[in-house]
Amino acid sequence: MNNQDLLAVAEEFGSPVYVYDAEKIISQYNRLTSAFNVEKLRIHYAVKALSNISILKLLNSLGCGLDTVSVQEVKLGLEAGVDPSRIIYTPNGVSLEEIEQVAALGAQINIDNLSILEQFGTRHPDTPVCIRINPHVMAGGNSKISVGHIDSKFGISIHQMPHLLRIVENTGMNINGIHMHTGSDILDIGVFLHASEILFDAARNFKDLEFLDFGSGFKVPYKEGDIETDIEDLGAQLTSKFEAFCKEYGRELTLAFEPGKYLVSEAGKFLARVNVIKQTTSTVFAGIDTGFNHLIRPMFYGSHHHISNISNPEGKERFYSVVGYICETDTFASNRRISEITEGDILDFSNAGAYSYSMSSNFNSRYRPAEVLWYKGEAHLIRKRETFEDLIKHQVPVDLDINVESAQSS
Ligand SMILES: *Cc1c(COP(=O)(O)O)cnc(C)c1O
Repeated sequence: MNNQDLLAVAEEFGSPVYVYDAEKIISQYNRLTSAFNVEKLRIHYAVKALSNISILKLLNSLGCGLDTVSVQEVKLGLEAGVDPSRIIYTPNGVSLEEIEQVAALGAQINIDNLSILEQFGTRHPDTPVCIRINPHVMAGGNSKISVGHIDSKFGISIHQMPHLLRIVENTGMNINGIHMHTGSDILDIGVFLHASEILFDAARNFKDLEFLDFGSGFKVPYKEGDIETDIEDLGAQLTSKFEAFCKEYGRELTLAFEPGKYLVSEAGKFLARVNVIKQTTSTVFAGIDTGFNHLIRPMFYGSHHHISNISNPEGKERFYSVVGYICETDTFASNRRISEITEGDILDFSNAGAYSYSMSSNFNSRYRPAEVLWYKGEAHLIRKRETFEDLIKHQVPVDLDINVESAQSS
């Protein structure tokens, strides 16, 4: 997708708009699967990163499974035609009822606490279950996305293994997988390798395993020269550790991963139009036709999104603070060097594939944007922009019979 392609998309579908490059998703998937040279590999795409059904269908056609965190995500996967046996369900803090609903749909259940494990195992001893362990490895880009540390709410502590084993024995349930997910934006592959040893240790307690799931957390580059997880190096090192473990275990297990960001982050572009250039005594603001209602990552995680002015890419660079239209501070970038902006120009935000549309809202009663999938030179609309109808369709207006005088006196 070059600048002309993107400008044409903004013209045709209006702004703001999300655009995803199908070929980038495909190449990321291929790069990941080629890095791991094991006999059985399974990638489960983390649906929460970007849950449009057309994206799920695309990944399904590549042979990719899904990682889901809610029954609704499981249903989206089924809607996209994904076989339930290729869907893993890794919820946190959900009810037993929801887990039973998902089990009935045929997805692989992954349980991350002892209370639910005991209840589920007692009621469904014949349903194979994967266990999410907490390896207590500190990893991840920031505290919101680090989930493997000692006081994290995620996973069953490896120190609770005796209790876990007692539940498994008492209920007669079948544990078919061990899982961990230590956080997002992990740079150091040493963290994965160290955590893998802990996963192998946990796995030695179970004799009927079919897979080991190493979660995700691969970091992608956000700016030029940014470091990213060295997938090829990780692939080579983990492959040999994994093969050695399978030999010791006596069976060829499936190696599983569940990346979200890695597969879709770089494929996504978010296009917004500049409504106003506002020069104050100290700053030049570029006010755009969107806000944290459509892209919250800069405000929520402090994430960096590269921004370029695709309407004037060769212009002289100047410093801008790019801000949204929400009636709250919503700064996308402070003092960012961007080629000269004129009102009406289209700005292009990079890395807008993951946790961007999927975290959008109707705050300020704005419509959520359209989504477009770009493939081989063609733009396909995969979600329409909302309309006023969408804002009111679930509202139930009531007319209260308010007696103004008595309301004032009470
Ligand atoms: C969010 C999540 C992922 C995906 O993380 P990324 O950083 O987007 O790759 C994988 N597994 C689980 C259990 C998750 O909650």
